[in-house]
Amino acid sequence: MTTIGFIGLGNMGGHMAANLVKAGHAVKGFDLVADYLARFEAAGGTAVKSSSEAASDVDVVVTMLPAGQHVRAVYTGDDGILASAKKGTLLIDSSTIDVATARDVAASADAAGMVMIDAPVSGGVGGAEAGTLTFMVGGSDAAFEQAKPVLENMGKNIFHAGGSGNGQAAKVCNNMLLGISMIGTCEAFALAEKLGLDHQKLFDISSTASGQCWSLTTYCPVPGPLPASPANNDYKPGFSVDMMLKDLKLAQDAAQASNAATPLGAQAAALYALFEASGHGDTDFSGIIKLLRGEA
Ligand code: NAD
Repeated sequence: MTTIGFIGLGNMGGHMAANLVKAGHAVKGFDLVADYLARFEAAGGTAVKSSSEAASDVDVVVTMLPAGQHVRAVYTGDDGILASAKKGTLLIDSSTIDVATARDVAASADAAGMVMIDAPVSGGVGGAEAGTLTFMVGGSDAAFEQAKPVLENMGKNIFHAGGSGNGQAAKVCNNMLLGISMIGTCEAFALAEKLGLDHQKLFDISSTASGQCWSLTTYCPVPGPLPASPANNDYKPGFSVDMMLKDLKLAQDAAQASNAATPLGAQAAALYALFEASGHGDTDFSGIIKLLRGEA
């Protein structure tokens, strides 16, 4: 049994923390939202009153927070994790944040005598609940080996992406590719509609031809071919436009900071921003086909 502090018990973190409890660990949890604390206690965790209380006297701290500014504040603030945890504590940040903040906070953790990894996830709320998340880890070999058994209680595929910040790098590269490929898939269906080509026919042909991709064969953006895809449920998320846009903006920040040319990533961010501005922030990201049809 490991003693764990968990900070950020929201849509993702609530399930992840509950899975750590289920695996037999003693978990102290903290969130700003009282209802989330109550839900965590009902799942067998111990709710505490502050981040510093969650981080004190534990072997491992896991954070699952909205964005970079929250991570920086919760780790490096006056009453934060680095001021409260004992030396040698393993710190795991699973939030999706910018690469620069991830590296910066990890360096502060190192200076404070602690070991930190960035370990963002993919798999959504369903994956968090089922304990089947994919973790993309940035940090030293030793930190990865130390974290792996804990991550395995919350996920199925655990990848070591390289040094500090590389977990976030893997996450933004993957999601930029996903945003671009979803728009490409939607464009193909929108063109097929104009040309009188049936959705199912295009699906059957492209899924076995060179246009095959995850956005088509696992998450098809039109109703019919894949009954479980959000297109069949009025584009309820799933993975929302707000979340896709957040990740595309992180990819653009990273591209600018590293002087990488990502013209299609930039275009994808612009199109998702337009779709969000037309009131579709909480639509599933595959709903962007509406924008391409001129329906948004
Ligand atoms: P969420 O908003 O539901 O949860 C974040 C929680 O952090 C909230 O409950 C909030 O109250 C808490 N919080 C914020 N500041 C705090 C502080 N100072 N102290 C304690 N708690 C604080 O968000 P989520 O959907 O759980 O996502 C969390 C992270 O995971 C985000 O970075 C998101 O991009 C990423 N992510 C989400 C999904 C998804 O499908 N929801 C999938 C992959 C990655």
